[in-house]
Amino acid sequence: MPKKSACINFDLCSPHVCDNINGNCIAVGACKKKLLEQEDPFEIPNLLSGSLCHGCAACQNACPLHAITIV
Ligand code: SF4
Ligand code: SF4
Repeated sequence: MPKKSACINFDLCSPHVCDNINGNCIAVGACKKKLLEQEDPFEIPNLLSGSLCHGCAACQNACPLHAITIV
């Protein structure tokens, strides 16, 4: 069975809604492996390594806009 990993839906992700003051993605801090990164505040986060992501869903659970799914 293929390994699961996080997938960010760019249409649903809105950093300015999650944190309208600093533009920080809440899911970034939820990943203990530090695999999610925002290049700049108010930017949509990137998954740095799909192969290192183990699909734990911590980021998915932290995202208030349901913009992350585990696939
Ligand atoms: S918490 Fe979710 S909606 Fe908010 S910036 Fe991060 S991925 Fe996007
Ligand atoms: S599923 Fe887990 S390991 Fe993968 S990016 Fe999200 S929090 Fe990190």
